[in-house]
Amino acid sequence: MNTFTLDELLARTRRTKTCWLWLGNRTTKGYGRCKLRKKSHYVHRVVLELTIGRRLRRGEQSNHRCDVRHCIRPDHLYLGSQKDNIADAIRQGRMSVQQPWFNQFRRKQGVDHPRAQLTEAKVRTMRRLRARGWTQQAIADRFDTSQVNVSWILNGHGWRHVK
Ligand SMILES: [Zn+2]
Repeated sequence: MNTFTLDELLARTRRTKTCWLWLGNRTTKGYGRCKLRKKSHYVHRVVLELTIGRRLRRGEQSNHRCDVRHCIRPDHLYLGSQKDNIADAIRQGRMSVQQPWFNQFRRKQGVDHPRAQLTEAKVRTMRRLRARGWTQQAIADRFDTSQVNVSWILNGHGWRHVK
Protein backbone atom coordinates (compact mmCIF):
# COMPACT_ATOMS: atom_id res chain seq x y z
CA MET A 1 0.00 0.00 0.00
CA ASN A 2 1.80 3.10 1.17
CA THR A 3 3.35 4.35 4.35
CA PHE A 4 0.73 6.82 5.42
CA THR A 5 -1.53 5.83 8.26
CA LEU A 6 -5.10 6.94 8.54
CA ASP A 7 -4.48 8.51 11.95
CA GLU A 8 -1.56 10.49 10.62
CA LEU A 9 -3.57 11.93 7.78
CA LEU A 10 -6.67 12.61 9.85
CA ALA A 11 -4.53 14.41 12.40
CA ARG A 12 -3.64 16.96 9.72
CA THR A 13 -7.18 18.26 9.43
CA ARG A 14 -9.24 21.01 10.90
CA ARG A 15 -12.52 19.51 12.03
CA THR A 16 -15.63 21.54 11.51
CA LYS A 17 -19.09 20.45 12.58
CA THR A 18 -19.40 18.56 9.34
CA CYS A 19 -16.16 18.22 7.42
CA TRP A 20 -12.56 17.38 8.26
CA LEU A 21 -10.54 19.81 6.18
CA TRP A 22 -7.06 18.95 4.99
CA LEU A 23 -4.52 21.48 6.25
CA GLY A 24 -1.71 20.53 3.90
CA ASN A 25 -1.17 21.47 0.27
CA ARG A 26 -3.89 21.53 -2.30
CA THR A 27 -4.05 21.12 -6.03
CA THR A 28 -5.18 24.02 -8.18
CA LYS A 29 -8.60 22.39 -8.29
CA GLY A 30 -8.77 22.40 -4.52
CA TYR A 31 -8.15 18.76 -3.68
CA GLY A 32 -5.86 18.00 -0.76
CA ARG A 33 -2.57 16.43 -1.70
CA CYS A 34 0.27 14.81 0.16
CA LYS A 35 3.73 13.73 -0.87
CA LEU A 36 5.24 10.32 -0.55
CA ARG A 37 8.64 9.52 -2.02
CA LYS A 38 8.49 12.72 -4.06
CA LYS A 39 5.21 11.69 -5.64
CA SER A 40 2.09 13.68 -5.05
CA HIS A 41 -1.08 11.86 -4.00
CA TYR A 42 -4.66 12.94 -3.59
CA VAL A 43 -5.36 12.71 0.13
CA HIS A 44 -9.03 11.79 -0.33
CA ARG A 45 -7.93 8.84 -2.44
CA VAL A 46 -5.34 7.68 0.07
CA VAL A 47 -7.84 7.98 2.93
CA LEU A 48 -10.42 5.92 1.06
CA GLU A 49 -7.80 3.29 0.24
CA LEU A 50 -6.75 3.06 3.86
CA THR A 51 -10.37 2.80 4.92
CA ILE A 52 -11.30 0.02 2.53
CA GLY A 53 -7.96 -1.68 2.97
CA ARG A 54 -6.93 -1.85 -0.66
CA ARG A 55 -5.78 0.27 -3.57
CA LEU A 56 -8.36 1.75 -5.90
CA ARG A 57 -8.57 -0.16 -9.14
CA ARG A 58 -8.62 1.29 -12.61
CA GLY A 59 -11.87 3.16 -13.16
CA GLU A 60 -12.57 3.52 -9.47
CA GLN A 61 -12.44 6.82 -7.71
CA SER A 62 -12.89 8.39 -4.34
CA ASN A 63 -16.00 10.57 -4.42
CA HIS A 64 -17.18 13.16 -1.94
CA ARG A 65 -20.63 13.08 -0.41
CA CYS A 66 -20.10 16.60 0.87
CA ASP A 67 -18.82 18.47 -2.19
CA VAL A 68 -15.89 19.86 -0.20
CA ARG A 69 -12.86 18.86 -2.20
CA HIS A 70 -10.30 19.10 0.57
CA CYS A 71 -12.49 17.26 3.07
CA ILE A 72 -11.03 13.84 3.95
CA ARG A 73 -13.47 12.72 6.60
CA PRO A 74 -13.79 8.96 5.90
CA ASP A 75 -17.56 8.84 5.99
CA HIS A 76 -17.76 11.71 3.51
CA LEU A 77 -15.89 9.62 0.96
CA TYR A 78 -17.24 6.73 -0.99
CA LEU A 79 -15.99 4.40 -3.62
CA GLY A 80 -17.43 5.26 -7.00
CA SER A 81 -16.75 4.73 -10.64
CA GLN A 82 -15.87 7.37 -13.18
CA LYS A 83 -19.31 6.81 -14.66
CA ASP A 84 -20.99 8.20 -11.57
CA ASN A 85 -22.58 11.47 -12.42
CA ILE A 86 -23.46 14.36 -10.19
CA ALA A 87 -27.01 13.16 -9.70
CA ASP A 88 -25.60 9.91 -8.38
CA ALA A 89 -23.34 11.72 -6.01
CA ILE A 90 -26.19 13.73 -4.64
CA ARG A 91 -28.37 10.68 -4.25
CA GLN A 92 -25.53 8.78 -2.59
CA GLY A 93 -24.87 11.69 -0.30
CA ARG A 94 -28.40 11.65 0.94
CA MET A 95 -28.34 7.94 1.10
CA SER A 96 -25.81 7.32 3.62
CA VAL A 97 -22.87 6.40 5.62
CA GLN A 98 -23.82 2.81 5.87
CA GLN A 99 -21.39 1.02 3.64
CA PRO A 100 -19.88 -2.05 5.26
CA TRP A 101 -16.37 -0.62 5.20
CA PHE A 102 -17.57 2.40 7.06
CA ASN A 103 -19.22 0.28 9.71
CA GLN A 104 -15.88 -1.42 10.21
CA PHE A 105 -14.11 1.87 10.40
CA ARG A 106 -16.63 3.25 12.84
CA ARG A 107 -16.34 0.29 15.15
CA LYS A 108 -12.57 0.61 15.11
CA GLN A 109 -12.70 4.31 15.81
CA GLY A 110 -15.42 4.05 18.41
CA VAL A 111 -17.40 6.62 16.50
CA ASP A 112 -21.08 6.17 16.27
CA HIS A 113 -23.88 7.42 14.18
CA PRO A 114 -27.43 6.72 15.33
CA ARG A 115 -28.83 6.64 11.82
CA ALA A 116 -26.41 3.91 10.85
CA GLN A 117 -27.79 1.53 13.40
CA LEU A 118 -30.01 -1.12 11.95
CA THR A 119 -32.09 -3.01 14.39
CA GLU A 120 -32.48 -6.76 14.23
CA ALA A 121 -36.16 -6.23 13.48
CA LYS A 122 -35.24 -4.14 10.43
CA VAL A 123 -32.86 -6.80 9.21
CA ARG A 124 -35.60 -9.41 9.48
CA THR A 125 -37.98 -7.14 7.61
CA MET A 126 -35.40 -6.62 4.87
CA ARG A 127 -35.08 -10.35 4.40
CA ARG A 128 -38.84 -10.76 4.31
CA LEU A 129 -39.21 -8.05 1.66
CA ARG A 130 -36.47 -9.63 -0.41
CA ALA A 131 -38.27 -12.99 -0.18
CA ARG A 132 -41.37 -11.22 -1.50
CA GLY A 133 -39.46 -10.11 -4.53
CA TRP A 134 -38.42 -6.58 -3.62
CA THR A 135 -35.21 -5.46 -5.32
CA GLN A 136 -32.21 -4.58 -3.20
CA GLN A 137 -32.54 -0.96 -4.33
CA ALA A 138 -36.19 -0.80 -3.29
CA ILE A 139 -35.28 -2.17 0.12
CA ALA A 140 -32.40 0.27 0.40
CA ASP A 141 -34.75 3.17 -0.37
CA ARG A 142 -37.31 1.92 2.12
CA PHE A 143 -34.69 1.87 4.89
CA ASP A 144 -32.78 4.93 3.76
CA THR A 145 -29.63 2.95 3.32
CA SER A 146 -27.43 1.98 0.40
CA GLN A 147 -27.93 -0.92 -1.98
CA VAL A 148 -24.40 -2.04 -1.10
CA ASN A 149 -25.38 -2.32 2.52
CA VAL A 150 -28.56 -4.23 1.72
CA SER A 151 -26.63 -6.64 -0.46
CA TRP A 152 -24.10 -7.09 2.32
CA ILE A 153 -26.84 -8.01 4.78
CA LEU A 154 -28.93 -10.17 2.45
CA ASN A 155 -25.94 -12.13 1.26
CA GLY A 156 -25.16 -13.07 4.80
CA HIS A 157 -22.02 -11.05 5.37
CA GLY A 158 -23.56 -8.83 7.96
CA TRP A 159 -26.07 -9.59 10.68
CA ARG A 160 -25.45 -13.30 10.44
CA HIS A 161 -26.55 -13.71 14.04
CA VAL A 162 -30.08 -12.53 13.21
CA LYS A 163 -32.29 -15.45 12.28
ZN1 LIG B 1 -16.87 16.58 4.10
